[in-house]
Amino acid sequence: MPREKPTDRNAPPAIVWFRRDLRIDDNPALDAAARSGAPLLPVFILDPDEMPGAASLWWLHHSLTSLSDALRRRGAPLILRRGRPADILPRLAAETGAKAIFWNRCYEPHAVARDKALKSVLAEEGVEVSSFNGSLLAEPWQVKTGNGDPYKVFTPFWRSLSQQVFDAPLAAPEKFTGATPAASDALNDWNLLPVKPDWAGGLRETWQPGEQGAQDRLAAFVDERMSAYRDARDLPDREGTSRLSPHLHWGEVSPRRIWHVARAAAEAQTGSAAAAESFLREVGWRDFAFHLVFHWPGMVSENWKSEFDAFPWASDDAAFLAWTKGKTGYPLVDAGMRELWQTGWMHNRVRMVAASFLIKHLMIDWRRGAEWFEDTLVDADLAVNRASWQWVAGSGADAAPYFRIFNPVLQGEKFDPAGEYVRSYVPELAMLDARHIHRPWEAPSDVLAKAGVTLGKSYPKPIVDHGVARARALAAYEEFRK
Ligand code: FAD
Repeated sequence: MPREKPTDRNAPPAIVWFRRDLRIDDNPALDAAARSGAPLLPVFILDPDEMPGAASLWWLHHSLTSLSDALRRRGAPLILRRGRPADILPRLAAETGAKAIFWNRCYEPHAVARDKALKSVLAEEGVEVSSFNGSLLAEPWQVKTGNGDPYKVFTPFWRSLSQQVFDAPLAAPEKFTGATPAASDALNDWNLLPVKPDWAGGLRETWQPGEQGAQDRLAAFVDERMSAYRDARDLPDREGTSRLSPHLHWGEVSPRRIWHVARAAAEAQTGSAAAAESFLREVGWRDFAFHLVFHWPGMVSENWKSEFDAFPWASDDAAFLAWTKGKTGYPLVDAGMRELWQTGWMHNRVRMVAASFLIKHLMIDWRRGAEWFEDTLVDADLAVNRASWQWVAGSGADAAPYFRIFNPVLQGEKFDPAGEYVRSYVPELAMLDARHIHRPWEAPSDVLAKAGVTLGKSYPKPIVDHGVARARALAAYEEFRK
């Protein structure tokens, strides 16, 4: 597409502030800045008030490397600055004479407040802000009930969202005119990667952060796995889902691009775009989480249903530690927690079971679990994570009822029937047969001996009895609701 105005390299630059949109493709803020005719000054700011968890920092380092290469190749190198955006951006505009800033909107409470304040500070300095939707299928105020209210229930939300028409994605521009580069930090000086110990080996083996990695994963998923997604998505023993979540979190691919690619592939494969529905519905759950958090910002830290404020949470540090280390004695929970530790990701079915175990079997506050996930997940996302934990706890909007308590043994037998998922993350149980792998404490001693398992030594005994824990959780639930 031709630019609206020819770019004058000496004109005041347009700052493009990259936040959670670390891509060139289908990036509305970048596209609008390029079309404005001003030379571009792309910037990423590491905000000390908004530091991601350790696994996400690892991802961010690699994603910034990839974005920086892509921008440099196109003529506009990425500037890195560390500090509060409220200090950095006005200073950068003053340094460079920029009169315009472009960004894609964020929706979490702190980001909304920060951006609102920044807009007025920048306006006073004569810098115009233009903001866009680059992260959601539809923005939280664009999906409304018949009464004009936000949705609280997913199914009608999805019905309304999925009927909207999403514009075609914007192609990645091939070339930009860069502004005279401003001073930049060196990425390595930010020390985002772990050293001593370098625990990121499993992350390196599993992921390719950056826009190219996101595009490759999307293409491979729609070609090879999307048609089986509906049946395979609940099975952790195979790669049945897209694993796009960290790429989506950092905005290395847009949900709008995913929507169009998935529907086009489904149409080519089956003659109907509807074959992409069950996958796109999950992308819709992501939009729903942002919708909830935007309209009920308190839910990132407080129970959405305030009656849960009276819940008698336990403060059992030993049990919490066993959960984080994957040593609860329940193989499916332990496999999930170790998958998380090794790869920075956990299968959705197992996230539900592991979260339910913490909240209901151990009666530990969902916020402690959410914080652990935020430190260890490569896809840690405040809106999705908090909404999901509240969903499991029963305290959230459209949540699973509290009294639905996952049985980790039955969940294992149903969704990992041969025990292959457990075998790959809990090697001390690898030789146990499928009949006992999800309930090793019921295995006869000769079976355990043959499999090289000594309960309480090579693998823990269950830290709580399922039946006892279930009864305790239900009794607590009845009590606090009185
Ligand atoms: P796919 O099944 O391929 O789905 C495609 C995309 O849809 C995902 O990449 C994701 O962006 C979105 N999606 C899928 N499932 C959900 C869901 N249940 N809710 C909202 N969006 C969804 N997801 C995160 O991205 N970040 C988190 O911090 C996070 N924390 C979670 C915590 C708990 C306790 C639970 C139960 C779920 C959490 N999820 C989180 C949701 C979900 O588990 C992951 O999005 C999913 O497992 C990612 O794998 P995938 O990309 O292969 O998903």
